[in-house]
Amino acid sequence: MASLHLWAFVARKMGMSLLITGSIALDSVKTPLEEHQDLLGGSASYASIAASFFTPVNMVGIVGSDFPKAYLDLYRKHGVNLDGLEIADGKTFRWSGQYEWNMNNRRTLSVALNVFEKFNPTLPVQYRNAPFVFLANISPQLQMHVLSQVQKPKFVVADTMDLWLEIAREPLMELLKKIDCLILNESEARELMKETSLIKAGRGILKLGPKFVCIKKGEHGCLLFGENLFFSAPAYPLEDIHDPTGAGDCFAGAFAGYLAREGSVNPSTLRKAVIYGSVVASYNVEAFSLGRLQTITMKDIEERYRLFKLMSHFEAA
Ligand code: AMP
Repeated sequence: MASLHLWAFVARKMGMSLLITGSIALDSVKTPLEEHQDLLGGSASYASIAASFFTPVNMVGIVGSDFPKAYLDLYRKHGVNLDGLEIADGKTFRWSGQYEWNMNNRRTLSVALNVFEKFNPTLPVQYRNAPFVFLANISPQLQMHVLSQVQKPKFVVADTMDLWLEIAREPLMELLKKIDCLILNESEARELMKETSLIKAGRGILKLGPKFVCIKKGEHGCLLFGENLFFSAPAYPLEDIHDPTGAGDCFAGAFAGYLAREGSVNPSTLRKAVIYGSVVASYNVEAFSLGRLQTITMKDIEERYRLFKLMSHFEAA
């Protein structure tokens, strides 16, 4: 891991870092076969570890005094810069959810914002010239607050969820005008645009501000839209699903992390970013919390990327 630290240091000096904000949580997750308490979770945790395979990550978030040191060590092991992590008096954000047998339908059992309720971060000076920004799922007001402190970002990706469409639609609409790429799942895209067709929903979202929209369809892959771009990617066929929590955050973190590593956004890098995102998400669901991502290296990611290409390729007629 020493070489990862060295590489992260060099890349950070070169200005290819990715700023990530979002939730940091202690999750309790129940599937039909297993149940685990106080797991490391939250959109920023999943996204940061996923992105860290590609580029140095500067994290912005908050935890309470109950947050285990082992989880801070896990971020550090992945070279995640914690200068923007506040450790406040009080309790860490908590979420609990339960999956049905299809491991797709999920019910939220409880949410406690705790220290997030009063989170009003001031970015460390060294974060403010971030070229790439990923606003992982958290309230659009907080996403905007963080983004407004970044001087001239080159590319801003944001994620959202149905909750914000319901209770913070106006702030979300304002945010859409300031970002380059929105990532959301199919039901959220339909709800946002009040549209049954995903193609029409994707094109409609482009008119709200972002230059690109990525609509995730779970086990059916995803659709990427841009002014002169349309990419329909299949999903990596999964055999072993233990915990789907955080798959969307890992997809988005790896997507943004790959683009930050390349330093350029064009149809080719965007398509590759979608596949890298799918590959990292496919690993993540193979164990609870961030367990599986602890056991893989970039070599595993490249190998699955290669298999993905083989499985999806077909000849011209
Ligand atoms: P996903 O499976 O990609 O939807 O993300 C799951 C993660 O989202 C869990 O680790 C939760 O801690 C986190 N989460 C759940 N509800 C919220 C919320 N309202 N805001 C931010 N993060 C949340």
